[in-house]
Amino acid sequence: MAPSAATARKRLLLVGGGHAHVLVLEAFARHPEPGLTITLVSRDRLTPYSGMLPGHLAGTYTRDAIHIDLERLARAAGARLVLDEAVGFDRVAQRVHLKGGEELSYDILSIDIGIAPDLSGIAGAAEHALAVKPIGSLLEKWDRLFESALAPNGPRRFAIVGGGAAGICLAFAVAAFVGDRVSGAIRVSLIGASEAPGINSGMRRRIARALKDRGIAVHAEDAAVRIDQDAVTLASGRRVPADAVLVSTHAAPPPVLATTDWAKDEGGFLAVGPTLQILNDEAVFAAGDCATMNAHPHPKAGVFAVRQGPVLARNLRRAVRGEALESYIPQRDHLLLIATGDGRAIGGRGRFLAFEGRLAWRLKDFIDRRFMRRFA
Ligand SMILES: Cc1cc2nc3c(=O)[nH]c(=O)nc-3n(C[C@H](O)[C@H](O)[C@H](O)COP(=O)(O)OP(=O)(O)OC[C@H]3O[C@@H](n4cnc5c(N)ncnc54)[C@H](O)[C@@H]3O)c2cc1C
Repeated sequence: MAPSAATARKRLLLVGGGHAHVLVLEAFARHPEPGLTITLVSRDRLTPYSGMLPGHLAGTYTRDAIHIDLERLARAAGARLVLDEAVGFDRVAQRVHLKGGEELSYDILSIDIGIAPDLSGIAGAAEHALAVKPIGSLLEKWDRLFESALAPNGPRRFAIVGGGAAGICLAFAVAAFVGDRVSGAIRVSLIGASEAPGINSGMRRRIARALKDRGIAVHAEDAAVRIDQDAVTLASGRRVPADAVLVSTHAAPPPVLATTDWAKDEGGFLAVGPTLQILNDEAVFAAGDCATMNAHPHPKAGVFAVRQGPVLARNLRRAVRGEALESYIPQRDHLLLIATGDGRAIGGRGRFLAFEGRLAWRLKDFIDRRFMRRFA
C-alpha cells in the first residue's frame, strides 16, 4: 500500500556543495529530522572554504586544510551524496536532471551552486587569461600557473584584473608565494576599474601602502579592455606588460539557471526573498553567490553564504514540518580581513574601523580555523 501523505517521507534535495549547504548538512548532522530523506548533488567531493583560500595561495595552509569533505559530511547528516552535476530543473514535475542521466525528485529543493566565470567584457581574455572565479576551478589553474613559473623562461610578469577583495588578496598571494619560490624578480600589477565594495577609506589607505611596500603596481580607475599574450591594454590606452593574467572581475550566473523560469534579478541570478525562497516558487530555496536578495543586496562573498547557512537550515527544517519560516536580513556591514601574504592582514568594518598587523592575521586565522573545525 502506498504511504499516506501524512506518513510519506519528505525529500529534501540540496544542489551544490557551497558554503551555505555545508552548514545545512552540519545542522542536520547535529539534529536529524525524522521522516526526512536528504540528497546532496555536488560536482566535487571536496569543497574549498573561501576564507582560507588566500592563505592557501600564499603558502600558509595546505590544500587539505582548506577543503571540506562532502562525503564525510553527508554521511554524518544521513544524506546520500550524488557526485554529479545538475544540468536541468523541471519545476512542474519537481525534478532535477543530472549530467550522468539520473533524475532526482524533490519535495523541497535548495540551490547553492555559486557562479560561473565571465570573461566576456574583455577582448582576448578567454584566450590569454585565467578566470579566478569560481574558486572550485581556481586551484588546478593555479597549480599549472605556478609550475610554469618555476621554469627558467616561465612567466615573471603577472597581472591581476579586478580590484575587489579577491583581486587584492590574489595580488598579495602571487607576490608572496610566487615571488618567494621562483628564481629572479617578478613583477605583479593589480588593475582595478572601480573601488572595491565594502572596503572603507582607512582600509583602502592601508592596502595601498602594503601594495606599494611589496612592489605591486596598481592601476586604479582604469578598466582592462584587452588581453594579449604579453600585455593588458587599459581603457586609457596604457599597456601593462604581462605574461600571465588572472581575471577576478564580475561573475555570471551558472548557465543551468538560464533554462528555468524562476524569478531572477537583472543579472540572471535567482531572486530570493527574506526566507531564502525563490520569489515565484516556495518549494525552492537558494543561497550563496547564485542568489540575490533584491530587498537587501550585498556583495557576492563567501561570508554572506556562511551567514545564510544556519537560517537556510532552520527554514528547510520548518518547511519540512509545515511551520512558519523565519526571515534573514543581512547585516549592513561585516568584518573584512585581507591577508597580505606575509603573516599579516588588513582588517576593517563599517565606515571607520581599520587596522592591520600580525594580530589581524591571527584573528583571521582563529576565525577560519574555528569554522573548519565544525567539519573535522
Ligand atoms: C581568490 C578569491 C578569494 C576569495 N576570498 C574570499 C574571502 O576571503 N572571504 C569571502 O567571504 N569570500 C571570498 N571569496 C569569494 C567566495 O569564494 C565566494 O563568494 C563563495 O565561494 C561563494 O560561495 P557559494 O556557497 O555561493 O558557492 P561556491 O563556494 O562556489 O560552491 C558552489 C558549489 O556548487 C558546485 N556546483 C556548481 N554547479 C553545480 C551543478 N550544476 N551541480 C552540482 N554542483 C554544482 C561547485 O562545484 C561548488 O562546490 C574569494 C573568491 C576568490 C576568487
